[in-house]
Amino acid sequence: MQGNGYVGRFAPTPSGPLHFGSLIAATGSYLDARANGGRWQLRIDDLDRPRAEPGAADHIQRTLAAYGFDWDGPVVYQSQRTPAYTEALEQLLEAGHVFPCGCTRKEIREHGLAGPQGPVYPGTCRDGLPPGKAPRAMRLRTHAETIRFTDRLQGEIRQTLTREIGDFVVRRADDIFAYHLAVVVDDAWQGVTDVVRGVDLIDSTPAQIYLQFLLGLPTPRYLHLPVATNAGGQKLSKQNLAPPIPDHDPLPNLVQTLVFLAQDPPLELLEGTLLEFWQWAIDHWDPGRLPRTREIRCPTD
Ligand code: GLU
Repeated sequence: MQGNGYVGRFAPTPSGPLHFGSLIAATGSYLDARANGGRWQLRIDDLDRPRAEPGAADHIQRTLAAYGFDWDGPVVYQSQRTPAYTEALEQLLEAGHVFPCGCTRKEIREHGLAGPQGPVYPGTCRDGLPPGKAPRAMRLRTHAETIRFTDRLQGEIRQTLTREIGDFVVRRADDIFAYHLAVVVDDAWQGVTDVVRGVDLIDSTPAQIYLQFLLGLPTPRYLHLPVATNAGGQKLSKQNLAPPIPDHDPLPNLVQTLVFLAQDPPLELLEGTLLEFWQWAIDHWDPGRLPRTREIRCPTD
C-alpha cells in the first residue's frame, strides 16, 4: 500500500479510443493521486455492451501505457462484476428502495419534465405497476430532500433528486446494470477515496451519493474537471467525432493537457523524456491553479 491512503481511479467507457477529452480526465486523476502519494487504478466501464467497441479496452490500455501512465493492481472490468451489482440490487430491493417500472422511454419523454439529465421520471410506476404494464427496468425511489456536496473545484453543489432527476434506473430494461449502481459499488470495492473526472458527470454525483448512503458505502471526495469543447461548444466525445490521440509522440498532447489544466508547464518538457515530463507534472501539480469553470474551448481543435 502506497502513500497516505489516497486511492484514485480512471474509469473509461470503451466506446472508442482515447481522445483529448479523456486524456484530461486520465491526467488530472493520475496527477492528483501521485502528488498525494496515492494509488491510481484503472477500471474499464464496459457494462454497456451495445456501446462497447471491440478492441477498444485493449487500445485504451496501450495508449495509456504509451503515454507513461502507470496503474496499480490489475485492471478491473465491470463486465466481470455482475455478482456484486446483483447483491447491491438485492439489498436495495429488500429495503424497499427499488421498484419495477413498465414505462418506455417514449412515455417518459411525453410525461416527464425536462431535467439536467433528460426527462424527469414522472413517478408512473412508483406505487405499483399500472394495469396492463409489464415490468421493464428497476428504478430507485428518490427523495425530495436536497443532496449537497462540496466539489473540490466546482464548490457547493445541490440537487433535489425527485424534482431534478426523478426515480432513476438501477437495472435497465435490457437487464444491464445502470452506470450509477455499478460506479458506486465499484468505487467502494476498489477503496476509492478521490474521484477526479469530467464535469459532464457532476449532475450524476448526487444520485451516486444517495446510493452510497442507501448501501452503507463511504462517499469519496469529488473533483470535477472542466471539459474540453470543440469550436461548436460541444464536449469532445466520440459522438462528436473527437479525433483519437495517437500512441506515438505523446509529449505534445501531454504538455497541452497541462496547459488546459492551467499548470503552466515549461515548454522544455517537449524536448525531454516521458519520465521527466511526469516527474515535473507530479512535483508541480497544484489543484489550486485549476480553472474553476465547466467548459474550456479545446486548444487543439
Ligand atoms: N465511464 C464513465 C465515462 O467514461 C466515467 C465514470 C466515472 O468516472 O465515474 O464517462
